Amino acid sequence: MAPDDPRRLIPRTDQLLALPPVRRARDRLSEDVVRALVRETQDRARSGEIAPDEVEPAVLAALETRSASSLTPVLNATGVVVHTNLGRAPLSAAALDALVTAGGYVDVELDLGTGTRSRRGAAARAALLAACPPAQDALVVNNGAAALVLATTALAAGREVLISRGELVEIGAGFRLPELIESTGARLREVGTTNRTHLRDYAGAIGPETGCLLKVHPSNFRLEGFTSGVEVGELRPLARAHGVPLVADLGSGLLTPDPHLPSEPDAASALEDGADIVIASGDKLLGGPQAGLVLGRSDVVARLAAHPLARAVRADKLALAALEATVTGGPAPVVRALHADPDRLRDRAERLGAAVGAPVVAHDGRVGGGGAPGVPLPGWAVRLPEAVAPLLRSGRPAVLPRVHDRACLLDLRCVPETDDERLHAAVQAALTALAAADGTIGGTP
Ligand SMILES: *Cc1c(COP(=O)(O)O)cnc(C)c1O
Repeated sequence: MAPDDPRRLIPRTDQLLALPPVRRARDRLSEDVVRALVRETQDRARSGEIAPDEVEPAVLAALETRSASSLTPVLNATGVVVHTNLGRAPLSAAALDALVTAGGYVDVELDLGTGTRSRRGAAARAALLAACPPAQDALVVNNGAAALVLATTALAAGREVLISRGELVEIGAGFRLPELIESTGARLREVGTTNRTHLRDYAGAIGPETGCLLKVHPSNFRLEGFTSGVEVGELRPLARAHGVPLVADLGSGLLTPDPHLPSEPDAASALEDGADIVIASGDKLLGGPQAGLVLGRSDVVARLAAHPLARAVRADKLALAALEATVTGGPAPVVRALHADPDRLRDRAERLGAAVGAPVVAHDGRVGGGGAPGVPLPGWAVRLPEAVAPLLRSGRPAVLPRVHDRACLLDLRCVPETDDERLHAAVQAALTALAAADGTIGGTP
């Protein structure tokens, strides 16, 4: 480098690291992240992209916006309540509080009275049992799939899982139930046909090799036409007569019936009908954290809990805390969104539409996330030009609209009312950006 090369003026790493705001940022960000950020900014100056005296402000600006987690909060304007790509259920205020508390040292496996070890997750278990009276016991594991693997392993490894052909479903993104079950060392014994299965099909297949009977709620599709299946209640006498546990994988996670979702199974009813255990997810219709719930007869739950695999799929303290608070706290956002008053939704949509000069159209939301397929959630949407959608997604706050029929639709069902102002601002900003872009390329604004 020549003595008069301006790159000599680039601040040195130690000088930048010693700046008070940079030192403070090292509480929030790792040493490596801070150093990398400093180096990248110096490199921009070395390549001539910025001047040497711009390095310091550029480092400070970059640190300002950088956080240790890069997950971006999204306003869900799709109308899809349990949106898998958005992390399924947003947590309730009570569950969020519980998460923060559980982030520290907590008595998740300790009796503070005696100072000795206690049953892990006893509070979450008690909350589930109180909310689902027919259950004698409950076990919480990592997710629904883990609960299913644990149940089929503990009850049927080396033996057969009896299941209807109509219930061998793919739940999402290549996750196939039959493959999952067979990975545990249990053999699938398929009965009936894709569209029709009768009690006599189960009766003809059950025997000494049967480890468990499995009923799976096909939560993401509906079979219509010439169909028949066998309900849990009809299977109960057969399972009892052979002393075989009857397992119902409900998927959705409703603990008790929801009048808004009449065809969605719930844990209490399935247990009353004769399931020995039910399996469900914590982050679908229950509206809690990712978790797998096992509820039912204490001797069957105990067999699962005692299996070595239980340790490999156990729920962490954060999930246990958030789950308990979801069940005992105020309504979860998923529950609020499912039960949103259509008139209120229309008012909010009309206010947003009027503010940004866009029409409001009737729009059906969906339960999503493998729940209540085909059940529309009648509501409203603000209709914008399709080209606004990418601008909304990349804006701050990020907004995810539904793109359908060459339009960008904003359904407010899953947007908390307290975020309406932020949504207005985001839409206004996106429309302004679109008009500016149209102006520069000569399109009609
Ligand atoms: C969603 C679902 C699962 C898997 O649950 P995860 O919590 O996603 O692991 C299993 N069975 C059924 C019927 C489901 O709907």
